Amino acid sequence: MGNVDILSMALEQLLSLAQQLGQPAFRGRQIFSWLHQKRVSDFSEMSDLPAALREQLERQAYITTLKEVTRKTSGDGTVKFLFALPDGNCIETVAMSYHHGISVCVSSQVGCRMGCRFCASTQNGLVRGLSAGEILAQVYSVDRLLGQRVDSVVMMGIGEPLDNFDAAVGFYDIVTSKQGYGLSVRSVSLSTCGIVPAIYRLAELKKQLTLSVSLHAPNNRKRDEIMPVNRIYPIEQLMDACRHYAKATGRRISYEYAVIHGSNDTPEDARELSSLLKGTLAHVNLIPVNPAVRSDFTATRADAEAFRQKLLSLGVNATVRRTLGADISAACGQLRRDNIDLSTKED
Ligand code: SAH
Repeated sequence: MGNVDILSMALEQLLSLAQQLGQPAFRGRQIFSWLHQKRVSDFSEMSDLPAALREQLERQAYITTLKEVTRKTSGDGTVKFLFALPDGNCIETVAMSYHHGISVCVSSQVGCRMGCRFCASTQNGLVRGLSAGEILAQVYSVDRLLGQRVDSVVMMGIGEPLDNFDAAVGFYDIVTSKQGYGLSVRSVSLSTCGIVPAIYRLAELKKQLTLSVSLHAPNNRKRDEIMPVNRIYPIEQLMDACRHYAKATGRRISYEYAVIHGSNDTPEDARELSSLLKGTLAHVNLIPVNPAVRSDFTATRADAEAFRQKLLSLGVNATVRRTLGADISAACGQLRRDNIDLSTKED
């Protein structure tokens, strides 16, 4: 096994790799198809490649595969996997069934360094970013383990995708490639806590990616308290970046808003949020905060619904997100954290 991470390579990179190995470029296309359409886990299965090339690849490269550590299935059909990466680190991947198919929530990093106060993924800090191949492998593993094609992906699992920019974009390009997994370009969304320069960088690429922004508070005072990233990129700068993104790509932005009862769901919060979003193509996704980290942060579905009504009366487009998998610790980072807690206890 070599050290070239072949699953992360774009088609063009594989065409050059084939040439570097003394082969015609079209061999690169064949390799890409074996990796992303037939999704083999071993070079020996690439039966239309010359044996010598398969051996060369075997010596120089590896194909990322994930090991299923645990699986939890919710009463509502949501399945949450804890996968081990080749280096032994664990990540979470969630498969959600909707009437139109299955949607997968992928992790983009092992841990996270953003420090949001309510989030379980960030409690032990960042270990490392995932490669594009490690993000792809989550989609491919779910497809194989559930025997069902994935038809949309949300980058909303563990980690901050824009803190791992190249891998996140590399993943998007391969998963939507017609010669790859072939997801439709609009069926992938990326959620960010608001790294402003990266939003501009993404806008420049003019992808049809759906951007979700985790807002969670309507002003700097409240957002500073729960999301440290706001102290670096305050809310006005974030909203400018969002307006720029929407204009550059023509895509509507979704705003995530975890309702924390008594803290960010007052009538004044609704008014501030509506003036913040005024004139933008926006949709607000409300979700009652999961008290996974801070037991003093709570909200019921009724609280979220009440806040939604306030927003609607102010002309803001808002829905309360379906909370899937609540019975299986499906909130971000909970399963990995529980697993770390367990292994620490066993030491
Ligand atoms: N880093 C990215 C994506 C990962 S988190 C981001 O911040 O958007 C995915 C979503 O779950 C984010 O909106 C995040 O703020 C939210 N989230 C994390 N912990 C939560 C909790 N305890 N309750 C409700 N939402 C939570």
